[in-house]
Amino acid sequence: MAAPRVVTDGSVLREIVRSVSREGRTVGLVPTMGALHEGHLSLVRRSVAECAFTVATIFVNPTQFGPREDFAHYPRNLESDVAALARERTDAVFTPTPDQMYGEGFSTFVQPPAVARPFEGRSRPDQFRGVATVVLKLFNLIPADVAYFGQKDYQQFRVIQDMARDLDLPVRVEVCPIIREPDGLAMSSRNRYLDATERRRARALFLCLERAAQLAQQGERDAATIRGHMRSQLETAGITRIDYVALVDPVSLDEVHEVKDNTMALVAAYVGGTRLIDNRRIG
Ligand code: AMP
Repeated sequence: MAAPRVVTDGSVLREIVRSVSREGRTVGLVPTMGALHEGHLSLVRRSVAECAFTVATIFVNPTQFGPREDFAHYPRNLESDVAALARERTDAVFTPTPDQMYGEGFSTFVQPPAVARPFEGRSRPDQFRGVATVVLKLFNLIPADVAYFGQKDYQQFRVIQDMARDLDLPVRVEVCPIIREPDGLAMSSRNRYLDATERRRARALFLCLERAAQLAQQGERDAATIRGHMRSQLETAGITRIDYVALVDPVSLDEVHEVKDNTMALVAAYVGGTRLIDNRRIG
């Protein structure tokens, strides 16, 4: 098992990536905040399968956390993350410090596209501004052919996709399916904040999406009716702090009144003090 090259200096990594590209080999990029689980590793596996050279990045990005969010406490375990990436045959790991990414005098930010406004954009102001900025910086430091993102953060994927289109970024943006725990809960680095009772409750996010898909398959077309069933599924499980439950067009993220074949269901809710999100296509 060859250990990946761990690089903290972006200009060093850029030279490595450029020389790989000059040899005509394709480069895949997997941006993460670390605390890696099977969801992250599924993106790495896809990149390793499709590209000659895979770079994973581990950076807990301060500019995407709100003032009352968990930046300081976000789980960090670089050693085990690098070991997991080595097992997947990752070629390089980029682990910059916040000071390296945001040096003295840093003041330029990306104004994210329109799809950043609803849902997560409303609940977590400035999150996507921080995400778009850091991802654009990563794209510039690591001139990859393909970048892999998870459907788990579907709105984030749409933000990156539109940013790449609008700013003519020479990278293909790919989305990979949500990896789930055996009981259906979407894997997330934040699941470790849940105590045993909350962990059992958290399954309701998955179940309310399943219920929505089931109703749609049975021919229910009325979005308000389906949303009502989703909410009561959450409330029955004791989840009362619901941020949003929405049925949307997968491209515009506009809410739909009538469910179509491509409609996506989105949910965000607090389980205890932990905010969880999930989604699935229900058409
Ligand atoms: P994060 O470390 O939370 O910033 O996530 C890094 C990448 O992994 C993002 O593109 C996420 O959407 C993706 N990801 C996180 N959890 C999952 C999951 N359960 N299944 C698939 N992709 C995921």
